[in-house]
Amino acid sequence: MPDDAAATPRGSGPSARAQRTDILLSVRNIQKTYHSESGPVEALRDLSFDVRDGELACLVGPSGCGKTTLLKCISGLLRPTRGQVHLAGELVSGPPKGMAVVFQEYGRSLFPWMNVQHNIELPLKNAKIPKAEMRQVVDEALDAVGLSHAASLYPWQLSGGMQQRVAIARAVAYRPKVLLMDEPFAAVDAQTRADLEDLVRDIWHKLGVTFLFVTHDIDESVYLGERVIILSSSPTVVQEDLDIDLPDDRDQLGTRSMPRFTELRGHVYRQIQAAKARHPHTEAEVEHVHHLEAGLPE
Ligand code: ADP
Ligand code: MG
Repeated sequence: MPDDAAATPRGSGPSARAQRTDILLSVRNIQKTYHSESGPVEALRDLSFDVRDGELACLVGPSGCGKTTLLKCISGLLRPTRGQVHLAGELVSGPPKGMAVVFQEYGRSLFPWMNVQHNIELPLKNAKIPKAEMRQVVDEALDAVGLSHAASLYPWQLSGGMQQRVAIARAVAYRPKVLLMDEPFAAVDAQTRADLEDLVRDIWHKLGVTFLFVTHDIDESVYLGERVIILSSSPTVVQEDLDIDLPDDRDQLGTRSMPRFTELRGHVYRQIQAAKARHPHTEAEVEHVHHLEAGLPE
């Protein structure tokens, strides 16, 4: 099968996805240059893509390619050097109401002196949700992540995976239009990670919230996404926008052993390798390109 056989034309994916037409998040020509002491660093070159209402989109790219920079620009935490982000038609110029972000460092994202319930309540208080409603919202969020029993526990009484569930519950309770996740499971063990991946798809199915999920893990991006936006290495552009035409009902063993899954992950892998070959940065990458060009084994 040729390399590009995995690239499905846009719009021919699963029917639920094809039916979505409203653009919720629009990212246009984002460029970001950091000015550090050692000179300017162009982290993002020129990035444009849209996320439709209700979609579960993954962004995948190698470490250092600017994924966190991009998420910070999208969530209004960082001002891009050029370009614009719109959420539901509104220009993002600071953290917008309809967005929540879950970061990798769960250890730093929860307040250790507050129990689980109070950690989840905090952003709701800032959003001025009435107290009577608050308890119900928190209960529903805890239920959605399978932690109904843990409301009175403190973060230090929870495992890493449970803490990340609390961070997800807090984001969900805020009822965002779009939930951004920046490599949220990179620091947990493999079994916990698999459970959390399934939790993301479960929440997406149940609550219909739009997800933009960032990862450097190719398998994770294919397993989770309806769509995978493949980023090049830095200075970063969208290398490819790929529909994931796997069945909607996914499970860790069955889906990952499907021939189509293997094709798709192989395709994403080759795209990322090709991007690195075009913009080699490290000595190992330059060496790799020389070997590829010379047809040598590595
Ligand atoms: P990723 O999340 O994909 O690993 P980052 O967005 O963290 O990538 O970083 C992208 C590039 O920008 C890297 O080369 C990184 O060193 C650089 N970078 C990130 N933050 C800063 C900063 N505050 N100042 C200067 N350079 C930065
Ligand atoms: Mg990052």
